Amino acid sequence: MKHTDKYSDIRDAVRDLCKEFPDEYHRKIDEQRGYPEAFVNALTKAGWLAALIPEEFGGSGLGLAEASVIMEEINRSGGNSGACHGQMYNMGTLLRHGSQAQKAKYLPKIATGELRLQSMGVTEPTTGTDTTKIKTTAVKKGDRYVVNGQKVWISRIQHSDLMILLARTTPLADVKKKSEGMSIFIVDLRDAIGKGLAVRPILNMVNHETNELFFENLEIPAENLIGEEGQGFKYILDGLNAERTLIAAECIGDGYWFIDRVTKYVKERVVFGRPIGQNQGVQFPIAESYIELEAANLMRWKACELFDACQPCGEQANMAKYLAAKASWEAANACLQFHGGFGFACEYDIERKFRETRLYQVAPISTNLILSRVATHVLDLSKSF
Ligand SMILES: Cc1cc2nc3c(=O)[nH]c(=O)nc-3n(C[C@H](O)[C@H](O)[C@H](O)COP(=O)(O)OP(=O)(O)OC[C@H]3O[C@@H](n4cnc5c(N)ncnc54)[C@H](O)[C@@H]3O)c2cc1C
Repeated sequence: MKHTDKYSDIRDAVRDLCKEFPDEYHRKIDEQRGYPEAFVNALTKAGWLAALIPEEFGGSGLGLAEASVIMEEINRSGGNSGACHGQMYNMGTLLRHGSQAQKAKYLPKIATGELRLQSMGVTEPTTGTDTTKIKTTAVKKGDRYVVNGQKVWISRIQHSDLMILLARTTPLADVKKKSEGMSIFIVDLRDAIGKGLAVRPILNMVNHETNELFFENLEIPAENLIGEEGQGFKYILDGLNAERTLIAAECIGDGYWFIDRVTKYVKERVVFGRPIGQNQGVQFPIAESYIELEAANLMRWKACELFDACQPCGEQANMAKYLAAKASWEAANACLQFHGGFGFACEYDIERKFRETRLYQVAPISTNLILSRVATHVLDLSKSF
């Protein structure tokens, strides 16, 4: 199945790079619970992870649509963008809300790969999805902010130099709206780890480098505040919309990967004297997930278009992520099911991709929370919490 669209140059170039890292490479990294260092380095060297950085700062100045194609192609080739997608969506926050001085300081080095901006610290263990209740605080003392608190599930910390951190700068009790009083900061992890920031890795179902973070009087220079103090939640939403859209594209890449694999297999596998793909009981779930994937793709393009035009896109970004994560999960189930026992063999890579795509029903936002957002924000139904 080969699609042609206006991004075929990017698709072909990313595919060519991905061919150097075949299934065996990703399988081995998964078995070792390792990090695909060589793969991420190759993507960085080729400039793909600097796609969103404006040309004046050494990047290629592309939009979210192009960035999403890069992520899609990585997943479609059998890899997992989860190892490096942070740089894309964090970039949105820095580009739109960072000062000229911050951009000049960080972007050229991120573009060359000297610095990595792969982490974003939002989620906390005691508040979960209820982000405005976060308890991590940043208190201004002279020319520094002092950070105390805890974060959980913060990804790629061990493979990043910088992290975007969301913390409360005004207590919840003192703000008019609960979304006010939070701020975002650039944390230089090289200075922070061991000096107020402790990192505890979390082993998990997917081979995804993610961690618990403990802040104890971590000092951050005041100049690392992004934008205006107290407005951080608003700023981080841009990053979250970019994240959701990119993850939708990754799920679409996964979905096509599953459909390619399963359609090929069911044509070849002969049971009861005929290819299993001749049975409608086999064909229909595959066809159904293909239809859902194609529909999800339309919403992904809509979200990209709005984001790149700096228009509100929360609704479309969330719906794209919802549809794509659901479609890739359906495709994963069909692929596993129709490979029979072989689907469970690691050497087929299906069980690995199955685990990887399952994550996106929960992170970065669960399907329930998307449904709730659409019900209350779009359809104006009463809030239940
Ligand atoms: C591998 C991995 C990597 C991650 N990386 C990052 C990262 O880099 N940075 C970061 O900040 N976070 C990260 N996260 C966190 C992720 O964004 C959260 O796990 C996710 O938002 C869900 O939050 P929670 O785990 O606290 O679930 P909870 O908020 O505890 O919710 C649990 C479940 O309850 C249901 N639920 C909760 N509230 C409601 C409601 N009101 N109505 C209906 N259903 C509800 C949902 O189905 C949800 O799945 C990562 C998570 C994982 C697993």
